[in-house]
Amino acid sequence: MHSYRTQMQAGRVRAASFSTCRSAHLRIPSAVVRRNPTLERRLGSMMSRIHASSTSTSTSVNKRTAATKVNAVAGTETVEAPTSTTSSPSKIPQRQLTFSEEEVETRFASTTMDRVLTYSTHAVAAGMLVCGFSGGGAAIAAIAAVLGYLAADAASGIFHWATDNYGDGRTPVFGDVIVKFQGHHLQPWTITYRDWENNVAPICKGALAPAAALLALAAVGVLPPALSAFLGSFLGFVVNSQEFHKWSHTTNDNNLPPVVRLLQSCGILVSRKEHGAHHKPPFEGHYCIVSGLMNAPLDGSGFFKKLETAIHERTGVKPRCWNEPDYTFLEEPHNQAWRIQ
Ligand SMILES: [Zn+2]
Ligand SMILES: [Zn+2]
Repeated sequence: MHSYRTQMQAGRVRAASFSTCRSAHLRIPSAVVRRNPTLERRLGSMMSRIHASSTSTSTSVNKRTAATKVNAVAGTETVEAPTSTTSSPSKIPQRQLTFSEEEVETRFASTTMDRVLTYSTHAVAAGMLVCGFSGGGAAIAAIAAVLGYLAADAASGIFHWATDNYGDGRTPVFGDVIVKFQGHHLQPWTITYRDWENNVAPICKGALAPAAALLALAAVGVLPPALSAFLGSFLGFVVNSQEFHKWSHTTNDNNLPPVVRLLQSCGILVSRKEHGAHHKPPFEGHYCIVSGLMNAPLDGSGFFKKLETAIHERTGVKPRCWNEPDYTFLEEPHNQAWRIQ
């Protein structure tokens, strides 16, 4: 108010420093202002509002600045949850925003084992498709392969829903996967650093042995060709679901092959917009990460809601999506695997 009064008495109100004021300069002769009490009151009120807005903006900026620090040892920028959480409903543990080149090369690059698992699983999927298309009618095999593609999308959604909502690092077999899916919500950009083989190898590791057994059955004619085509397609799309997921987080179009951008825009692969809806409130749908085509029937029919209610009625366990996002459980010692990704 002092600065306003000083300037008004000088016959000039400078508004250039306030971004909320549209006029760059507001010049009012002091004699005019003195003769017009209404104008003086209105100008005083306007400047009070501008001052209040400016003070509140700078306070929030200071809060954000206080919550950010540079970790000089790791050479990376990290963010800590502010001590006061009044401005945000979610509780966010410390997370890593950027990675050095060395970290990218060591943490996200594929290993020899990743490549062996990935190429072997793709060879099995290709073998099942060959059995499917060579053992019977190509049209039936093609329909079965399309059904396999849709089933892979639904399976990716059901698995994603389960890991997002239930269990933690102590859950048998899936503990690490569960906390890594939660870690993805905290720092979704890390997936874009991954090599293809590094990204898909964990799923290949679980799928390779049963898939190889099924291929053996298909090769000796125990599995019908249509089922073999279905399973070959299902396997190929399921193990690559994390790669399609990665592409949906790749914000720079130059980092994606044009064919991928085309397939995303056609809805054949999950698009940035479709998967982006999963990362926005109310955080309770859009789980499918192959094409996202099954999101509409699964979310629209209330499939997950009915399942959540049935589980709650039988076990008393509530899914995480029934509450405000709260990631503080990731700070517990048994949930630290989310940081190692
Ligand atoms: Zn999720
Ligand atoms: Zn995501």
